[in-house]
Amino acid sequence: MSLQRAKRNATKMTYSVEEENESDSSSKQIKKKFKKNTKVTITECKKKVKTQPLLRFNPIAWSRLINVGKVLGQVDTQGILNNDECILTIQLNDIGQQNVYKEWFDEDQKYELDEKSNLIKPFGFKSNLHYLNQFEKRIQNRYYWDNEAVWNDLYKLFGNSYLRCRSQQDYNYLSKVWLDSKVKIKPIIDVFNIQIELDVKNLMEIDKEFKVQTTKWPVIPDKKDIRSYQEIYNYEPNPNQEPYIEQIKEKLSTSKRPIKCDKDCVCFDLSKMGTFSYVNITWDSECPNRKNRVECLEHEGTNQPCMNMSIQSKQHQVNKFKQEENADVEETPCWGIDAYTRKVIMNILPLNYDETQKNKFMEKLLLAINRPSDKENAYDMRLACDYIIKESKLMSSHYNQEDRKMAKQIKKVIKYNPEGFRIHTKGFGLVCVNKQGIKNNSLIIPYLGEIYQPWRWYEKQDFIKKQMKEHNQKDILPDFYNIMLDIHRDDIKGIDFLFVDPINKGNYSSRLSHSCNPNCGTVTTVSNGTYIIGMYAMREIQYGEELTFDYCSFTESKQEQLQALCLCGSEKCKIYYLQLSNCKEYNGILDKEHCFLTRNAILLKSCSDNIDKSNEDSELYSKYRIGSSVLNDCPLWLKNWVGYILKFIDQERQTYKSELNLKYEQTTEVEQWNHFTATQHSEDRIQNLIFTLDKIKFFLNNSDSSEPPISIIGDNDLLDSFWKDYSSGSSNESSFFNELYQLFQKHNQKKMIELIHLIYKKKQQLHDYKENLLYIHKQELLLTRMLFLTLSHMLMQQQYTFHHEALSLILYMMAFTYTYFKPYEYVGFLSPPIEDLEWRKVGAFKKKCKSEGRAYSSQFVWGQLIGWFKQTVAAPQASLSQDRRGTLSYPAISSFDKAGDKAYPFQQSKAQSSRSFFIQHLLDKPSYMWPPETASWSYKNTYKIYGTILFEQFYSTELEEDFLDEVLANHTLEYDQKFQLFVKYESKKFKHSIDLFDKFKDIFQPYIGDNQLNYKDMIVAPLRYRRCKFENNSKRESYIENLRSEGKSEEADLIQKFPFISYAI
Ligand SMILES: [Zn+2]
Ligand SMILES: [Zn+2]
Ligand SMILES: [Zn+2]
Repeated sequence: MSLQRAKRNATKMTYSVEEENESDSSSKQIKKKFKKNTKVTITECKKKVKTQPLLRFNPIAWSRLINVGKVLGQVDTQGILNNDECILTIQLNDIGQQNVYKEWFDEDQKYELDEKSNLIKPFGFKSNLHYLNQFEKRIQNRYYWDNEAVWNDLYKLFGNSYLRCRSQQDYNYLSKVWLDSKVKIKPIIDVFNIQIELDVKNLMEIDKEFKVQTTKWPVIPDKKDIRSYQEIYNYEPNPNQEPYIEQIKEKLSTSKRPIKCDKDCVCFDLSKMGTFSYVNITWDSECPNRKNRVECLEHEGTNQPCMNMSIQSKQHQVNKFKQEENADVEETPCWGIDAYTRKVIMNILPLNYDETQKNKFMEKLLLAINRPSDKENAYDMRLACDYIIKESKLMSSHYNQEDRKMAKQIKKVIKYNPEGFRIHTKGFGLVCVNKQGIKNNSLIIPYLGEIYQPWRWYEKQDFIKKQMKEHNQKDILPDFYNIMLDIHRDDIKGIDFLFVDPINKGNYSSRLSHSCNPNCGTVTTVSNGTYIIGMYAMREIQYGEELTFDYCSFTESKQEQLQALCLCGSEKCKIYYLQLSNCKEYNGILDKEHCFLTRNAILLKSCSDNIDKSNEDSELYSKYRIGSSVLNDCPLWLKNWVGYILKFIDQERQTYKSELNLKYEQTTEVEQWNHFTATQHSEDRIQNLIFTLDKIKFFLNNSDSSEPPISIIGDNDLLDSFWKDYSSGSSNESSFFNELYQLFQKHNQKKMIELIHLIYKKKQQLHDYKENLLYIHKQELLLTRMLFLTLSHMLMQQQYTFHHEALSLILYMMAFTYTYFKPYEYVGFLSPPIEDLEWRKVGAFKKKCKSEGRAYSSQFVWGQLIGWFKQTVAAPQASLSQDRRGTLSYPAISSFDKAGDKAYPFQQSKAQSSRSFFIQHLLDKPSYMWPPETASWSYKNTYKIYGTILFEQFYSTELEEDFLDEVLANHTLEYDQKFQLFVKYESKKFKHSIDLFDKFKDIFQPYIGDNQLNYKDMIVAPLRYRRCKFENNSKRESYIENLRSEGKSEEADLIQKFPFISYAI
C-alpha cells in the first residue's frame, strides 16, 4: 500500500453534512473507555466517588415488638423468667391454675429425665433461649421477621423456665404469668407481621437506582453466547502489516535491563517479594528487578527457581469447559450482586454483628454464590444460603456458626421480596480451582491481545461509534476488554502508550471480571527487552474465589456510567465500574486559559518559529517524561508546538492545585490529595497530547520534513487576496475588493466606489517611487486598512438597501486586523480498512458489515492539533470548520447583500439592539463560534485567508489586553477619534512614521463626510426612538410636533436631525 501524504493537494476537500455536525462547540458527550494499566489508589479514590450507600434503613416493627418483653417483665413480678434459681418466696396468692404448662409441652410427647434439674422434660427439648433478656436481645438484634418465630421463642423461653422450676408453687406461678401475659402480648405480636412487611418494603425502596434492571431474570449464560477468542501467545499488531508491525515492535522495545540479584534475594520466595504499591505502581520489593518491573536474569549457581522470570511462557493452567486435569483456574460462569442487593443484605443482617463481621460474611456469601457445584442455579440466593448452612456444620469448613446465622437471617427475609436478593450473571469469569489457592505476587498470565498504536485505536473507536449509530445501538454500553499498555516512566526513551484489545484474539486474562476490591492487577513488565502486561495476584486467592481486577475505567458520560452497575458486591464497591472523569473546574481552566483562539495562536506561533526550542523546553520534557519515543520523527514546528502545550499543561496543573487549595481547608492530607488530583488530571492531558502526536505523525507518514499545517500569509499574497483582479471589473469572487465593488455597484454606491478606486490608484502609484518592495507592501496594506476604516465610517452615516451597519462593523474590525494565515493543503488518504471481525463483538451486531478505512482529509492536522485534548471527535477538521466561523474568518461580502432595511441580518430583543447583542458576544466569548443568529452569514472564505481582530487579540503579544474592548467600543465615535486609535495600534504593530499617517489621511479627508453627525447621540438615543417607524414623512412630522408640544424638544430635535434613526440601530 502506498500512501501519498504531506503533499500539496490540488483538489478542494469538502465535508459531508454528517461531519459538520460534530463541532467542538456543540458540546457533544465525549466518551473514553479503556482500562488503565496504572490505577488510582483505592484509598484516595474513596474521597472522589460515592462509596457504599449508607445504611438508611429505619424499621418500626422491632421498636414496637420490644413491648412484648416489657409486658412479660411486668407480669412476672418474681422475675422467674430471668432467674437461674427459682425463689421459694412465691406467695400463694401469686399462684394460678395448675398444669397449664402443657401448653408448651405436648401431652403426647415422650418424656425424659433432665439430669440437671432431676425433673421430667420432653424428649429432645433443647433450646438456647433460657432467659427473658435473651429474648429481648433477639428483638434488639432484629432476629425476628414474622410473629410465628416470636411465638416459637416464647414457647422455648417458658419451656426452659419450666425446667428450672423446683416446686409445684413455681409451676403454678409460671402458668399464671403465661396466661396473664398472653392476653396482653397477643395484640402486639399480631401487628408485628403487618409492620415487618411494611419495613421490608421500605428497605427495598432505598437506593433503587443502584439496582440492575433486567427485563428477564434470571439470565443464565449460554455457552453459545459467550465471547469466543482466538488463542494467541504474543501481541498481534493491528493492522498486521508493515510498517506498523515494525513500529509497534519499536515502541515495545526497551533498553531497561535486569541486574544480577543477590544469592539470597527475595525473588525466590513469592511471599517475601513485597507488596504492590498503587502509589508507586510497582512492588515495594527488596528484589531490585521486581521493584523495577523487569524480569530477573538467569540466576547462576542455584537450583531454586526465581519467581520473577519468564512471564511469556509461564502461566497458570486454565480449565476450559472442564477439560484440564490439573488446572489452577477455570473459565466458568460467574455471578455477582449489585450495590443495591449488598445494601439490602447488610441492612437485614442481625445487629449484634459489627460491620467487619458483616463484610467478612459478604465475602463468604459471594464465595458461596460462585460455588462450583451448582452453577446452573447460582442465581438463587436461597440455595447459596442453604449451601452456607450445610457447609457450616461440617468440620474444617470454610464457613462457621456465625455465617450460618447470617445465612439463616437472609432466608427469613427473602420470602417477602426475592427482588431484593437478586444474583446476576457476570458472564464467563475465572475461578481459582487449585485447592492450594494461588499465592500472592504470582504471575497469572500475560494480558495479551491485538495491539494498536493510538491512531489506529481511535480509528477503530470512531468506526465502532459510527456502526453503533447506524445499527441503532447508540444507547447500548458496548463491551470493552481493552487495556492501555504504558511504557515505564523511567524508560530512557520517555513515556508512550499502546492499546491491547483481546476481544478477538487473546487468552483467558480477558475473562477476568471487574472488582472494586480486586485480588489481581495488571502491571507492565519488561521481559527480554520488551514490554508486556502481566496479570499478577495481588493477594492470596483461595480455592473457589473468582479472579478479578480493577478496570480503572473512566467515562465522561453520566448516562454511560449509570449503565455500568458493578456486580463485585465488595465492601469497597464504587457502585459503577466506570467512574466519571469529568471535572468542571479543570476544564474551566482550559476554557479560559487555552481557548480555541489561544490554541490557534499557539499553533501559528509554533508553525512560524524556525528556531529549535528543544533546549528551552528540555526541563518540561523531562518533568513530563516526553522523550525520543514521542518526539522522534516530529518536524520542528510540531516539537515547538509540544513545548507550548507542555507549558500550558504545567500551568494548568498549578492553577488547578492552587484553586483546590483555596477551596478546601488546609491540612497535609488535603494538600496531598489536591496534589494527587492535579497530577492525575495533568497526566490525562499528557496522554491526550501523546495520542494526538501519534495521529499527526501517522498522517505525516513520520516524515520530519513535513510542512506546517498553517503559515502566515506574506504581504504580497495578502494584497492579492484584497485586491486581485479588482481593476479588471470581472464579476468573479477573486478578491475582497472585487466583491465589495460588486456589492456597492449593485446598490449604486458611487461615492464609496470612487474612494476604493482612488485608493487602488494611490496604491499603484507607490510603486513609482522605486522604494524597497517590502516597504511598499507595508504602505499598501496601511492604505488598505485605512480604506476599511473610512468605508466603515461612511456606511454608518446613511441608510442603505443592504446590511450596511453589519458590514460597517466588519470593515471596522478589518481595519484593526494585521495577521492573516493560510492552511497547508495536505493530500488526503484512506487508512487500512478496519475488518468486520474487529468490531462486531462489541455490540449486538447481527448483520455483517463491509470493512472500511478511515478517510483523512487535508485539514486533519490543523483540526487534530486544535482539539488535541480529546480523541473522540471523529472528524476534527469538520469541527474546526465550524469553530472558526467568525472567530478566525470574517463572513463573506455576499452575507451583507440582503434586501430590506435591517442593519443586521438578525433582529434582537427589545431590550438589546442587534449591534450591542453582537458586540457583547464578541467581548464575552471571543473564542466561540459566532452566535446562531448570525447563521445566515456565509463563511466560505474564497481566498482562504484566516485572521480576525479576535484572533489578533490572542496572537499579537505587542497589543494590550484591552485592545479588543477598546477597538469595539469606538466603532460609532467620530472619525478623528477612531483614527487616533487606528494610529495608536498601527504604530504599536508596525512602527510607521507619523508623516505617513498624515499624508494618507489627506487622501481620505474628502470622504469622511458629515462631521456634524454626532454618533454618540445616535447610539445612546433612547430605545423608543429606534423603535418608532414612520410610514411616511407626514406621520413623522406629526410625531415630531407631538414631542414638541409635550416639551420633549431634545428628542424631537434628534429625530429631526437623523432621518434614519427610525429603525433599529
Ligand atoms: Zn531478585
Ligand atoms: Zn530473581
Ligand atoms: Zn464494585
